[in-house]
Amino acid sequence: MSNLDRAPLPGVCGGRGFVVAEPVRELLSPRHVRLGETTEVRRLLPNLGRRMIGAWAFVDHYGPDDIAGEPGMQVPPHPHMGLQTVSWLHAGEVLHRDSTGSLQTIGPKELGLMTSGRAISHSEESPRSHARFLHGAQLWVALPDAHRHTDPAFEHHAELPTVTAPGLTATVILGEVDGVTSPGTTYTPLVGADLALARGADVRLPLVPDFEYGVLSMSGEVHVDGVPVLPGSLLYLGCGRDELPLRAESDAGVMLLGGEPFAEELIMWWNFVGRTHAEIAQARADWTAGDRFGEVKGYDGAPLAAPEMPAAPLRPRGRVR
Ligand code: MN
Repeated sequence: MSNLDRAPLPGVCGGRGFVVAEPVRELLSPRHVRLGETTEVRRLLPNLGRRMIGAWAFVDHYGPDDIAGEPGMQVPPHPHMGLQTVSWLHAGEVLHRDSTGSLQTIGPKELGLMTSGRAISHSEESPRSHARFLHGAQLWVALPDAHRHTDPAFEHHAELPTVTAPGLTATVILGEVDGVTSPGTTYTPLVGADLALARGADVRLPLVPDFEYGVLSMSGEVHVDGVPVLPGSLLYLGCGRDELPLRAESDAGVMLLGGEPFAEELIMWWNFVGRTHAEIAQARADWTAGDRFGEVKGYDGAPLAAPEMPAAPLRPRGRVR
């Protein structure tokens, strides 16, 4: 997915020093953002005062939207740099095309993992013939400096490992849960898991105390460490936990996001993650000139134009705006 915000705010994340080394319960509300003509998303990260969870730097939740007889998602070709994108669906499907030649339909509970490395471009669209409901999340993982210039790549994992307990099926999207590891490629210690809870479930999920965590609710009524988290909200949990209590009042679907607090400072602007104003400006110029980011074949429509660079240089501004 693309950040279509026409005046994206610059931001800087990072640093263990910013992370409280003990559990917290910080409920984050979404910001409603329109993507093109058709789709509205709830943006949970970056959020006011909370820009990352581990290397997770961007979280959009969308739907469930009734798109019967409508185009559904239509995100034209756009570039990325310095990040991975994770596509995760609970209903419907997304057709992914990218400049490495990928053409892949991603279905519910399948992992679409795109590593931009130094440069990639892609499009995302509802297929012409699609399911009635579209419901999912689009997430970005920041790449560490040592790997951010790697080759672009795309992975599709239709089968992911699961961890089960009474009333819980945890699908391991990235990283490891309770000794079970996802096949998805990662570059920093992190975890992403889909937790399907049955009504009445009352479980404790093992966590890693060194990681910080958050839980995004996608559907149902769930209490996370005693806090009710409504669909479209994210509860930030901090560090220092070895387990997470979850209780479901109805069938519910949530995502667990976590990781080692990201130590590097970042500049996120539009669809780029970088370290300096100059490299962001260069990426924008290269995309505008049709250089470096390759070509997405087969998308019916023009690529997205980059917004104007802000008048002031992009600078570190700290974790709180
Ligand atoms: Mn994108």
